[in-house]
Amino acid sequence: MDATPAEAPATESAPELTAKQLADAKAYGNAKLTCRVIDLVIDFSFLIAIAFLAAEPLDRWLTHSCGLQSAWLRLMSLFLLVAVLHELISLPLNFYSGYMLEHKFGLSRQSIVRWLCRSLLQHALVTVFGLLMVSGMFALIWYVGPWWWFVAAAAAFLVSVLLGQLVPVLVLPLFYKIERLEDADLLARFTSLTAGTTLSIQGVYRMQMSSETSKANAMLAGMGRTRRVILGDTLLDEFQEDEIAVVLAHEIGHHVFGHITKLVVLGAIMSILNFWLCDLALRWTSTQAVFSYAAVPVSVLPLLLLIITTLSFVASPLQNALSRHFERQCDWYALEQTQLVDAYRSAFTKLARLNKADPAPHRLEVFLTHDHPPINERLAMAERFRDQLPQA
Ligand SMILES: [Zn+2]
Repeated sequence: MDATPAEAPATESAPELTAKQLADAKAYGNAKLTCRVIDLVIDFSFLIAIAFLAAEPLDRWLTHSCGLQSAWLRLMSLFLLVAVLHELISLPLNFYSGYMLEHKFGLSRQSIVRWLCRSLLQHALVTVFGLLMVSGMFALIWYVGPWWWFVAAAAAFLVSVLLGQLVPVLVLPLFYKIERLEDADLLARFTSLTAGTTLSIQGVYRMQMSSETSKANAMLAGMGRTRRVILGDTLLDEFQEDEIAVVLAHEIGHHVFGHITKLVVLGAIMSILNFWLCDLALRWTSTQAVFSYAAVPVSVLPLLLLIITTLSFVASPLQNALSRHFERQCDWYALEQTQLVDAYRSAFTKLARLNKADPAPHRLEVFLTHDHPPINERLAMAERFRDQLPQA
């Protein structure tokens, strides 16, 4: 039986974080941020060194010492060389951040072998995907000519739509066991929450994360027929029904407001800018007497990778601000749909505790790196919502 909002049983009041939990969350956040900054420094130093110092010698070495006369073979070899070198250079920091820190703070349940296998799989996927993208990009530069950047942006848009559909059914299951949610009580809650939206009740899944991590997570994924809400088993097992309802309502909000589609469109605009800047770089840095797209050398690849990395770095605060705006929209939506202010408060307090999320990070850190609003801000929203409720 559905309780009316006013009669809804209050979830046990949100246990605040203890001083120790707060200090832990701050220390974890700072350590992760430091790793991120070092990682950025490594990435940029590496790409700058390769683009401006090593690219041409490497290309010559591949041509003369390795006997690779075909530009295609040299392109793929150069990309693989850069990718593997980058992985090797980043490995110590990745291990420290992804394995040691997670264990130090009691968040990871992975063995070292499992961490290695999953990292390898992840990097292999990224490298194969990168190889396909880079080959496609050079095919367009060499054969399409002046408008290659526009065709490349259109192709990238199609790829992102395709990936949007395939990620939840092909990629996520490589890393996690995902199955349809079977809990009858929760499904009944979900049915009432999805009523009036175009999200089908078929689309709620349970993702087994607890063998990897103690962190709780939930997401809206997929496009079209693969659109679904995925809830981590960590969240399903630790959260009470009202709290899960709040999280689900939040995820449904992402669907109702069309956030995934909006992000894909934003991505398309970014691609146009990205490839257009690459085109400018091709022409400005060319040493050809008369510039010809068909004669663009393989050695320009690291410069293009540097441009793409730089643009994504420069745009990330903007993208994060947009993401935080989306999250606030969905938080408010979840409050409106469930009216469960106490459950909302306890759900976010639990999330902060389980994920060791700093409830109030520095504003600059939020501006630069956070794609979700800090927990304290989300809790403050609950109070604003409560204030505007009609008094009983
Ligand atoms: Zn969200």
